[in-house]
Amino acid sequence: MPEWSSYKASTYRPAEPLNWVSHVTHLDTAALLLRDWQLRAGPVYDHSKLNTRRIHVVWVSPNDWAGAGGFRYGNVRFRFDWATLVAGAKYYWVEAVTSYKPTATRILVTTHDRDGDPTLIPYNPAAGDGPWVTDAAGKHFWNPEVCLEVMVERSIPLTSATRIDFVRHHENRCCIAPKVCPDSGVEADRASARFLAAATLASTKPFEPHPLVGDFGGEPTRTVRDAWDNLLRYLSSRRLVAAGTITAEAPAAGALARGVLAAFARGDDEWRVLGALFASKPDLVSAVRAAVARGLSISSESALPLD
Ligand SMILES: [Zn+2]
Repeated sequence: MPEWSSYKASTYRPAEPLNWVSHVTHLDTAALLLRDWQLRAGPVYDHSKLNTRRIHVVWVSPNDWAGAGGFRYGNVRFRFDWATLVAGAKYYWVEAVTSYKPTATRILVTTHDRDGDPTLIPYNPAAGDGPWVTDAAGKHFWNPEVCLEVMVERSIPLTSATRIDFVRHHENRCCIAPKVCPDSGVEADRASARFLAAATLASTKPFEPHPLVGDFGGEPTRTVRDAWDNLLRYLSSRRLVAAGTITAEAPAAGALARGVLAAFARGDDEWRVLGALFASKPDLVSAVRAAVARGLSISSESALPLD
């Protein structure tokens, strides 16, 4: 029997539909990704058979760690349609890492022919005997009792993400720096506001529709609208008293608003110090809204409501 047959969905907890997978990353990494909107395939570092190989991958998974206190990979979740992601590719069983809880079962999805590779075994989901299966109608399912980790051997454009949303970062667990990660315990709402601030400041190619904004008419996506609502809550907080001299119409308003956004994106409380330089709260909100709309090429500021 192949190794993967131990990880077939059991009758106690049946297989779940596998419609989408996600790549979750930290806020600062996500801000860098916004430069070229690509998840770049990289070498495998962790306890894997492939960690000495020149096989570069992007990790995706259907696992949701919300019930386990949050994700250790960060706050920003890029979701991809599973069937589209794997269409036309070849699949190989890599390994089951039983030292992880739950066990990580790993499958490589690639357009390369790796049939002769002694460390990889061709995997056929239609055989129905492993953690990822397809039924007679071609529908995909997975076994939620294991952690299904998929290594995609190519870079993935973020514009192919069907959705960008936000998750809680686990309080103590972190895949990068468990004790010192600045995002430990950061909730989804705050993460979304910080991501929006970073996205506003990230350079994109001029004269192209912004990936976070609809193709026609510059309408913000749901991700942007939800994140704006969250950012607005922080800007309106009573802890910030704006009593400076800069009005929303002042020549320096745009530069100051971008300063506020940069500090906010870093998770730095200095954003309040900068925000307090505005003449009033409405001036602050108005200048930040104009900066966000401009940064994301949103055609009408009113697409970002003030209440
Ligand atoms: Zn972290």
